[in-house]
Amino acid sequence: MSPCPAAPPDRIAGMTDEARQSAVERAWRELVDTARRTAAEGLVVGTSGNVSVRVGDLILVTPSGVPYDRLTPQDTVAVDLDGRQVLGDLRPTSELPLHLAVHRRTDALAVVHTHAVHATAVSTLVPELPPVHYMTAALGGPVRVAAYALYGTEELARNMLHALRDRTACLLQNHGTVTYGATLSAAYDRTAQLEWMCRLWLTASSVPGRTPTLLSDPQLAEAARRLHTYGQPPA
Ligand code: 13P
Ligand code: ZN
Repeated sequence: MSPCPAAPPDRIAGMTDEARQSAVERAWRELVDTARRTAAEGLVVGTSGNVSVRVGDLILVTPSGVPYDRLTPQDTVAVDLDGRQVLGDLRPTSELPLHLAVHRRTDALAVVHTHAVHATAVSTLVPELPPVHYMTAALGGPVRVAAYALYGTEELARNMLHALRDRTACLLQNHGTVTYGATLSAAYDRTAQLEWMCRLWLTASSVPGRTPTLLSDPQLAEAARRLHTYGQPPA
């Protein structure tokens, strides 16, 4: 995937109309690619899940109930931070309250919501994903489960924000996942890591007569420090 188009308001403010339009077009392409990837990699089935990305003061969102492989550049849907539709004819995702809540209350530029199966299974079993792996630290600490509320409601958005405190990911009870990041690929990768950790915990905890060991707070803090310099040094 090419670099993410997510752009904070100050960078967009100084752009010409033409540059702004091409930033929106690029962002839409990458949003659609990300939504298609959630389906291709088995994190959602059918039209479940939704994705958003911020371009200045616009929030681009997937439309409600439209198969991702049918989306074209003409289908671009965008709302402002108050949820008023400013681009497109298709109705925005039913989870608009959830996406707007993350964009308003965090530094997110991209949000991914899925119904990943292992993550959703975990959301029915525990109030928090037990820290079975050091990648827990990459999501800000043990991932909480937001209390159940009907999909698409302000109540679900509120419960989600509560579970997201100091985290970049949470589970939605009996529903799915929410992750956010500074780019679409960062938000997507967090979903994939979260789903993988849920699968790991379910696998380890299903061995009869055995209980998985968990990492302590100091072990997670140590991992968090090391993760700051993970990978290649900046060029
Ligand atoms: P939308 O098709 O309206 O985005 O809804 C899918 C979903 O996951 C609701 O929680
Ligand atoms: Zn959903």
